[in-house]
Amino acid sequence: LSRELRVGTKSLQALVRHSKAGHREGNATTEPKVCKVLCYDATSWTIEGFQPAIKEFNKQHKEEGISIEMEFTTERLSEHSAIFAAGYNAVCLFVNDTANSNVIQTLSLLGVRMIAMRCAGFDRVDTKAARAFGLTVARVPAYSPYAVAEMGIALLMSVNRKIHRATSRVRMANFTLDAGLMGVDIHGKTVGVMGTGKIGAILCSILRGFGANVICYDVSENPEVLEKGAIYVSKEEILSQSDILFLMMPLLPPTKHTINFETLKLLKKGLILINTSRGGLIDTKALLKGLQDGTIAGVGLDVYENEQDYFFQDWSAKTVTDADLVALLGNNKVVLTAHQAFFTQEAVDKIVEETVQNLTDFYHANKTGRHHPNNCIPALTN
Ligand code: NAD
Repeated sequence: LSRELRVGTKSLQALVRHSKAGHREGNATTEPKVCKVLCYDATSWTIEGFQPAIKEFNKQHKEEGISIEMEFTTERLSEHSAIFAAGYNAVCLFVNDTANSNVIQTLSLLGVRMIAMRCAGFDRVDTKAARAFGLTVARVPAYSPYAVAEMGIALLMSVNRKIHRATSRVRMANFTLDAGLMGVDIHGKTVGVMGTGKIGAILCSILRGFGANVICYDVSENPEVLEKGAIYVSKEEILSQSDILFLMMPLLPPTKHTINFETLKLLKKGLILINTSRGGLIDTKALLKGLQDGTIAGVGLDVYENEQDYFFQDWSAKTVTDADLVALLGNNKVVLTAHQAFFTQEAVDKIVEETVQNLTDFYHANKTGRHHPNNCIPALTN
């Protein structure tokens, strides 16, 4: 915090000078002796995961003279907080940090050369701007697709079998089965999976285990999914034939608001909708209408369109003013979790391991000028 306050009082120009001087001081040659990283939006699991891993890494690489120094801030990266990165070589970001072109320009001016995403999605990073300003962007493309696919199933079973409602009723000693606890068998239902990459493919496999009829939509077919007995259909068909629909594709311009007021008209009445990918895949106002008119019988969400203002923070003693979020929270057909699908021990271990590897690869790339991190994002993907 003291660092944040100190940095916050300086002008950007002064920071640029300070940052460049800092980079020179640390350098015998052109590359940093220490890779200094500022980790934004840090929570307890981030610090508890990264600190021992970096300590161990530095111990193992002492002889080679490679070391990583990571500092943590609870601030999210934004146009206001980008200046905190003065004096660092890299920033480590999570799902709700914003690295738009203005932020990237500031980071570049401050001498930051790398963005290490500690997640798979990178929809809040302007990768074209990163390329233009010479910043390397790396991510962790597959830390545990099982974690997310299994969370999708957890949401489905909770929505379908009304576990959230049953639990609170039983806690009140109401042991009746009245008032809307009945679900349906997944066996024999038509389940749609939009996006059949790493997570979608595992989900298809689990769903086939339930005995569901699995139909998929993707811009490119995954043979693994076909081997499991799922089939590909058109976008219109998946929307109109599914009893249960999972959204498992990234948030990109063509996938934004896949569920909207128009597509709502195509859906089978009584659909169960599950989204563990990105909130922007659903137009929340259309979802609320679908829930209200019965088109959508229930929804399981691990992500929400405007989650960056709320998720990963404790709002229990404050007033949530986002009307759509309030409407979702008050609707008993909705099961909402706060972006925790990735959150298993195995996934966190892998996120930490791969991020440290990406930072090391970046360090080597800097040193030799020859290669980039394996998990580098192609600059023209969004
Ligand atoms: P992936 O890249 O392996 O697969 C994405 C699939 O979506 C690919 O098969 C791709 O062809 C498909 N796709 C791309 N554009 C499409 C379009 N216009 N229409 C239909 N399909 C399209 O990604 P993944 O590892 O399976 O992850 C999927 C998403 O899950 C990520 O992008 C991320 O947003 C989200 N995610 C969420 C969490 C969480 O904690 N909630 C964790 C990890 C990932």
